[in-house]
Amino acid sequence: MSDKIAFIGIGNMGLPMAKNLMDAGKKVKVFDVSSLMIDKAKNENLEVAENIDSLINQDLSFVITMLPEGKNSEEVYLGENGIIKKVPKNCLLIDCSTIDIETSIKIGKKAREEKIKMIDAPVSGGVMGAIKATLNIMVGGTKEAFDIALPILKLMGKNIFHAGETGCGNGAKICNNMSLGITMIAASESLMLAKRLNIDVKKVHEIMKSASGNSWPISVYPPVPGLIEGTPSNNNYRPGFSTAMMTKDLKLANQISKSVKAKTPLGEKALTIYNDFCEKGYSNTDFSAISKLIGDEVWNYSIDKNEEEDN
Ligand code: NAD
Repeated sequence: MSDKIAFIGIGNMGLPMAKNLMDAGKKVKVFDVSSLMIDKAKNENLEVAENIDSLINQDLSFVITMLPEGKNSEEVYLGENGIIKKVPKNCLLIDCSTIDIETSIKIGKKAREEKIKMIDAPVSGGVMGAIKATLNIMVGGTKEAFDIALPILKLMGKNIFHAGETGCGNGAKICNNMSLGITMIAASESLMLAKRLNIDVKKVHEIMKSASGNSWPISVYPPVPGLIEGTPSNNNYRPGFSTAMMTKDLKLANQISKSVKAKTPLGEKALTIYNDFCEKGYSNTDFSAISKLIGDEVWNYSIDKNEEEDN
């Protein structure tokens, strides 16, 4: 098997993931519809393709996609210029995007019809995890495809899980992100309450980190500035993981919950809260800036809408 990998979608996550593969000695060629991202990839010395046709060739062993939503994955794999008809039969397709389970299953089924192996492999761990290659990766697909993908996934992540058949990777990811969206709001409410009570927020954060109120947003990704170096809250909430992406994931959680009659009242409430924040113009801002919506009147720290990140 050759070392050749095509990587499609080199945004906040895809770019550092592709770079880690290149740094590990793989022959990586990337493509993105955004010229801004193509320029960033060139600056990182990644080989870039001008279009999908010049990206896909019969030497490829893997195609990895890291795209925003199900409609993007569907377009790239199954659309008019869809890659499923172009890749060699022994190429493994790895969709790392967080998308709806239905689209994952649909793409997996089409791949099977073409006798091509495919897995859904969404990730968690944020941009920091992508940069440090410490992502958690949740795989849906056959055990055989999982085993083939494992050495490549290990170059981008630390904990790699086989969640089940096609679609289960995204199912696990949607469950995870519903909790993340809720706990980010919970962490924001607690830290803003501390501020209102005039207790040193640094102290409360230190206490919560080792007490029962701990969570990933508290210990790794606090929603207010001045607590942990290198987090979006310390960098004017530059994504990171955008509020638009969190809203998308909560929509996926709410849709799938309804379809299986699961009760998710906090998931529903969290969706309303992030939706409001998007409507106020913060969709490109990191989702941890939700603390701004919760405590603006007690702690008016600097924040911008990251409008220049639009592309
Ligand atoms: P992003 O918007 O920064 O990057 C997505 C990239 O895909 C963009 O550069 C866009 O131009 C490109 N793209 C869209 N359609 C395309 C097409 N048809 N062909 C080629 N390129 C195309 O998003 P991101 O933050 O990197 O997230 C990507 C995925 O990973 C999402 O599904 C997100 O939910 C998930 N995710 C993100 C994070 C995070 O912290 N950012 C963490 C875990 C999972």
